[in-house]
Amino acid sequence: AIPTLASLYASSTIAAPSPSTLASSIYPFAHLLSLHCGDITSLSIDAIVNAANNSLLGGGGVDGAIHRAAGPDLLKECRTLNGCDTGSAKTTKGYNLPAKHVIHTVGPVYKSSKHEESEKLLRSAYRNSLEEAKRVGARSVAFPSISTGVYGYPFDKAATAALDEIGCWLENGNSKNVERIILCCFSQKDYDKYTELAPTVFPPQ
Ligand code: ADP
Repeated sequence: AIPTLASLYASSTIAAPSPSTLASSIYPFAHLLSLHCGDITSLSIDAIVNAANNSLLGGGGVDGAIHRAAGPDLLKECRTLNGCDTGSAKTTKGYNLPAKHVIHTVGPVYKSSKHEESEKLLRSAYRNSLEEAKRVGARSVAFPSISTGVYGYPFDKAATAALDEIGCWLENGNSKNVERIILCCFSQKDYDKYTELAPTVFPPQ
């Protein structure tokens, strides 16, 4: 039986987050999730997700790091893809990366005046990336914190939506399609934020 959020917290001294803060869908799938603090390009897994821009022709931040580590053949393949809509995802090979595939997705540029639209697009970016992973048979996938760099999405809000959307996708009959979903944080601060948001999923070390 899948434990409920309440039962997971019952024997804990940690207060359960309120449902409005974090939907419970992620908790039954804690065993499929990991946090990693560091550079996503170093991960030797089936697929890493790139927080790209609409052109898919490279940029700064994690996108720049992925293109540098993968080598120029990645850009060559990206040129054949005709860009990518915000919230969608497209897959290439990993070239010189230790990861087999790169799933390029485009998160929204955050606008607080259009929070709901931004959240919808961020959730789509996570969901469509997972669908791409499923399509290409990638069973281990790492995500950077999409949109939380130059695209300005507040980290807490982005992390909450990411956890909830991943949970919904797994709950939708997809938990057999993946072995591990890694949330890759580039700073200790971001890493600590996840352990605060979901302490039974990512117990503080
Ligand atoms: P966006 O345009 O979607 O905001 P950014 O690349 O600016 O994309 O930032 C997205 C997140 O990726 C940020 O949290 C940033 O700290 C993180 N990041 C940057 N470089 C790396 C890297 N090499 N590995 C993992 N995460 C990274």
